[in-house]
Amino acid sequence: MESKDNKRIDGDDKLVFETSEDVKVFPTFDSMNLKEDLLRGIYAFNFEKPSAIQQRSIVPMIKGRDVIAQAQSGTGKTATFSISILQNIDTAIRETQALVLSPTRELAQQIQTVCLALGDYMSVQCHACIGGTNVGEDIRKLEYGQHIVSGTPGRVFDMIRRRHLRPKRIKMLVLDEADEMLSKGFKEQIYDIYRHLAPSTQVVLVSATLPHDVLEMTTKFMTDPIRVLVKRDELTLEGIKQFFVAVDKEDWKFDTLCDLYDTLTITQAVIFCNTKKKVDELTQKMRDANFTVSSMHGDMPQKERDAIMNEFRQTKSRVLITTDVWARGIDVSQVSLVINYDLPINRENYIHRIGRSGRFGRKGVAINFVKQDDIRILRDIEQFYSTQIDEMPMNVADLV
Ligand code: ADP
Repeated sequence: MESKDNKRIDGDDKLVFETSEDVKVFPTFDSMNLKEDLLRGIYAFNFEKPSAIQQRSIVPMIKGRDVIAQAQSGTGKTATFSISILQNIDTAIRETQALVLSPTRELAQQIQTVCLALGDYMSVQCHACIGGTNVGEDIRKLEYGQHIVSGTPGRVFDMIRRRHLRPKRIKMLVLDEADEMLSKGFKEQIYDIYRHLAPSTQVVLVSATLPHDVLEMTTKFMTDPIRVLVKRDELTLEGIKQFFVAVDKEDWKFDTLCDLYDTLTITQAVIFCNTKKKVDELTQKMRDANFTVSSMHGDMPQKERDAIMNEFRQTKSRVLITTDVWARGIDVSQVSLVINYDLPINRENYIHRIGRSGRFGRKGVAINFVKQDDIRILRDIEQFYSTQIDEMPMNVADLV
């Protein structure tokens, strides 16, 4: 249940989840006592001032505290743990000292890129250890020695099991998109990895959404964690305008999308469907109607996924049709429009999907296609996040 002042309280009122009282605010990167070469990397990456989550979470992470950090999409959570990791690793020891686990390969690669960029002046080795890539190459990179490993659970566990990834020196474990990582699909795998780490390993959890049951679970494997949590009704980014379009039949969604095509291509847009099959079908239909679109989902070979991702990042393609594989964490600042061709099947992913637009305070628009029987779900989302989803106006293109 939810109390008036938005503290999260469980059924029998015993557990209260709110930002810890001892959280201090560090207004600048200079005030965080960071290594000179790291600070240089941060400024060279064009970060001037830390975001709210960075001001509160970086220093406790550096101090070795277990941390639970929750903040809106696109507010710099990735940089928060990347900076903390870079500060705490000793580059003179070429052993893995920090392990970051993410739910998708693309996200693990993106985190690697951020660590390498911020650590540009530190001679840091960071490896993306992900499925769908050459195992031999993975082994070679790990044997060479990597300070940071950013990976997906399956391949990481495989590498630990085969003793190519030595967990002895790992002192920090980060679960990005923590609620997803601790959900049914991943929980066992995470536990398998966790068992191989030293009991003293620092644990950091990060996500835009951390439902109550996940927060409750954290007491089992975290020690006196510092919590930096935003309230649920502050979660939907102010900068993202949310709309719906009512469609009578499934077939009408396609026409509505075609009508919106010019709006989609003003900058870049991501269209979410609930199944891979639907992504393929919609892509084909759009192409048959002579619209240029890209598409990506988890059944494609990794090489193809990488190529599509690169094209989209380089704005060589502007419209991407995808599944929830793209819902979490992916940062492409040009994306200003998200279309839910299908409404997501859980409330959390709604926030993650729309958060692909409006990165770091930029403008964003989310448009939901709703059939009659979806209206209930939309109203539920609206109420849950205390937000407003209006009917799409005629001038929507002006808002993108
Ligand atoms: P999150 O993980 O919270 O979704 P990201 O870490 O991906 O957010 O950050 C979103 C965008 O904001 C990225 O493009 C990142 O480079 C940028 N960013 C993060 N922190 C800062 C900062 N302090 N100043 C300027 N830009 C930042």
